[in-house]
Amino acid sequence: MPIFVTRSSMPDIEDYIKEIQPIFESRILTNMGPVYKKFQGMLMDYLNVPELSLFVNGHMALEMAIQALGLKQRGEEAGGGEVITTPYTFVSTTHAISRNNLKPVFCDIRMSDYCMDPDRIEELITDKTVAIVPVHVYGNICDVNRIENIARKHGLKVIYDGAHAFGETYHGIGVGNFGDATMFSFHATKVFHSIEGGAVAFHDKRYGVPLHELKNFGIHGAEEVSAIGGNAKLDEFRAAMGICNLKRIDEYIRSRKQVHDRYFERLSGVDGLILCPEQKDVIHNYAYFPIYFDREKFGKSRDDVFAALREKDIYSRKYFYPAVNDMECYRDAAGKATPVAHDVSMNILTVPMYEGLAMEDVDRICDIILS
Ligand SMILES: *Cc1c(COP(=O)(O)O)cnc(C)c1O
Repeated sequence: MPIFVTRSSMPDIEDYIKEIQPIFESRILTNMGPVYKKFQGMLMDYLNVPELSLFVNGHMALEMAIQALGLKQRGEEAGGGEVITTPYTFVSTTHAISRNNLKPVFCDIRMSDYCMDPDRIEELITDKTVAIVPVHVYGNICDVNRIENIARKHGLKVIYDGAHAFGETYHGIGVGNFGDATMFSFHATKVFHSIEGGAVAFHDKRYGVPLHELKNFGIHGAEEVSAIGGNAKLDEFRAAMGICNLKRIDEYIRSRKQVHDRYFERLSGVDGLILCPEQKDVIHNYAYFPIYFDREKFGKSRDDVFAALREKDIYSRKYFYPAVNDMECYRDAAGKATPVAHDVSMNILTVPMYEGLAMEDVDRICDIILS
């Protein structure tokens, strides 16, 4: 049996049937129905956030959060707004900025957590900058305090891409409470999923109506359309899947921690391998297990290890490679070089990590890497 980098968690089918039974009776399949509302309430409790709007996926959640915060308009007023973001992410982050007619300005990352380097942000701020969009990469929490100070000093909004950080806390505070808004993704491949799905967490109640309207064609009332919205509603069946998975999330994360701990035990201290240490004061979700290969010290490159695993039917991923500013569609907008992000993208591998991955398989993966 091949081993893939991830495997979707599946709740009990009986539980799913129980959750969708009322949908068959009510015939309310979508448009923010009762299952959506139940899911929303459960998530607000779990994430410990005051406001939450659910979306059909994380990408649309981020795209519409950027719009709901008025950044598109602010950008137009500035004659082309700029958003400081990281090139070390899934390309969705950057697309969400660009598709709002805003220009991504790439800030380099730091080696310690692969998140945006706060020392590099201020030099990128111009009179066109309207926001900062950092990413909690691999579930590593960004330096939220320094980012907030910089944003406050320069009057910028902060929207976090929290696609990797579901359920995490920093100093006991749910990660969705930082910045002006945080996007979560509930895609099938993530720690927590609703097949497809996503959310925006926020605390300023004023964003609630625009977020709600943007995902529903800009419809304000039966006879009024207030904005040029799209369609990004989460339907009742996906919400039901989310409910079922949310009931088991703690169990999923416990299982991931066992995998994480075993990888750590086997691979830490090996010359030329850099692992992500657990951050202080953070409750982690163990979303990914990235390994940085220092070719010189380890003797083999990331690509060598990728190929050796693949030969044994084990599919790791070069996540994130290439860095976004090395991609065809962003090369012209790349701006200043980001040497750390480029280097990390060339040398990092995420190895299989999912709930239920057998310890024998983790050992086999470690054996191949070490040999
Ligand atoms: C998965 C992911 C997204 C997009 O989320 P979808 O729910 O797949 O649309 C955005 N950013 C990052 C960092 C992601 O990992």
